[in-house]
Amino acid sequence: KPAAAIIGAGIGGIATAVRLAAQGHRVTVFEAQESFGGKMHQLELPGGYRFDGGPSLFTLPQLVDELFELVGRNPQDYFRYQRLDPITQYFFADGTRLTAWADENRFAQEVEQKLGVPAKDVVQFLRRSGQAYEATAGTFLQKSLHKAATYLSPEVLKALSALPQLGLTSTMHQRHAAAFSDPRLVQLFDRFATYNGSDPYQAPATLSLIPHLEHGLGAYYPEGGIYAIAQSLVRLAEELGVQFRYQEPVLEILTAAGRVTGVRTSQDVYDFGLVVSNMDVVPTYRHLLPRQPAPERTLSQPRSSSALIFYWGIARRFPELGVHNIFFSQDYRREFEAIFREKTIADDPTVYVNITSGHTPTDAPPGHENWFVMVNVPHDQGQDWAALVQRTRQAVLHRVSQALGTEVGALIRAEHIWDPPGIAARTSSFGGALYGSSSNNSLAAFLRHPNFSGQLEGLYFCGGSVHPGGGIPLCLLSARIVSDLIKK
Ligand code: FAD
Repeated sequence: KPAAAIIGAGIGGIATAVRLAAQGHRVTVFEAQESFGGKMHQLELPGGYRFDGGPSLFTLPQLVDELFELVGRNPQDYFRYQRLDPITQYFFADGTRLTAWADENRFAQEVEQKLGVPAKDVVQFLRRSGQAYEATAGTFLQKSLHKAATYLSPEVLKALSALPQLGLTSTMHQRHAAAFSDPRLVQLFDRFATYNGSDPYQAPATLSLIPHLEHGLGAYYPEGGIYAIAQSLVRLAEELGVQFRYQEPVLEILTAAGRVTGVRTSQDVYDFGLVVSNMDVVPTYRHLLPRQPAPERTLSQPRSSSALIFYWGIARRFPELGVHNIFFSQDYRREFEAIFREKTIADDPTVYVNITSGHTPTDAPPGHENWFVMVNVPHDQGQDWAALVQRTRQAVLHRVSQALGTEVGALIRAEHIWDPPGIAARTSSFGGALYGSSSNNSLAAFLRHPNFSGQLEGLYFCGGSVHPGGGIPLCLLSARIVSDLIKK
């Protein structure tokens, strides 16, 4: 079997390495940074605070388990997780607080009690979200959409024919506003558009299936935090003989006669029959394949949102906060107009706070918490980030301090900031976009780059910038699709 090079040790690259090693390929992963994880890295701040650097919400854990099972290992020997309950604490701008319980009925009761929306309407909405997920996920997330054979299966034809009725012509926001008269509940469900970096006022109503992932299938917390996912999979990959070469960026994908022949790195030139790029697809073409005609239409699709993150060591505990906490802005529409049309950050953005020290006490000193504080922002297009960061920091402090009735700024003992140019620099993501291209139009799923090259034999693509999209579960699925294509 041909030897395989994987460019990048992001979660998609690590999972592809495991799968190809399991198929009997000799696999080498080249990583530009000093360690693995990419967006899923971890960081430590002075004073004893540990943070997951990027992702914090974990759904579909079975996609991680199956990598261990694939090679006859017990996942629990490597990686454990528990279902989160409650999932999220919501703080609305009008002072209302709402807890999203894992149990659908309990959550619906909470909505009825706090917002006055009949519980049965919530349950019905979540059931529909589940049906939409069941009707489409198998097709749109688990197969290559770019192979003719995909369209010959009856299951796929059924999913395609269900699409119009699932909402290609209306937006997510319109779907939610039609289902609920309470603007707070509309805002709550609209937020799920941000799970793939999109705008609820533009994204198709089909994406109203996203709440099902969290409310139907469950949100999970890995023991030790999200970074444990990458750690445990790297351990498995190494046991399977995968070689990781850190601080060795790939500079060029070598080709001859219409196929890949190897890679040139910062250190050497290597022969490989297979190359899988886990690097964002835009710089893969621009930098590693400069002489290859690039698929311009695909590469020019609008980017997803990026993020501005403040990692704060906080010298107090807040029992009213959980793992996931949302502090909603007053004017949600304004926030997305700012991100997607004006390419800036609204004056009063919604704030997400992730705290893991409640579940993993070693993540902060006793009596303290580790706050990962995130705001959705546009991808980098040369904005004045220093000014935006300072302004947004004030707005964030104002919102959380007001909601919690405490001057949060006075509690900060350690701080680190990650902005879109920083995300781009550390992970090579084009513009620092978190999820590759956005899903703001109904054809987005078809316009993502395929998991293989149509021009160069032996070249494949995995990770959040290609099909089926960004986020941990979809990156893991991209690895499955790539390894299935290679096997065939
Ligand atoms: P990446 O993580 O993008 O890694 C690519 C790797 O390739 C990097 O390590 C990079 O150094 C390396 N590389 C690049 N170029 C080269 C080269 N030339 N040679 C060698 N190596 C190279 N997802 C969720 O599911 N839930 C969340 O809650 C969530 N929140 C997020 C919050 C933030 C702040 C961020 C940044 C992301 C979030 N995501 C979330 C998205 C999720 O993290 C990503 O979709 C996923 O981790 C991307 O994985 P990937 O396989 O595409 O690789």
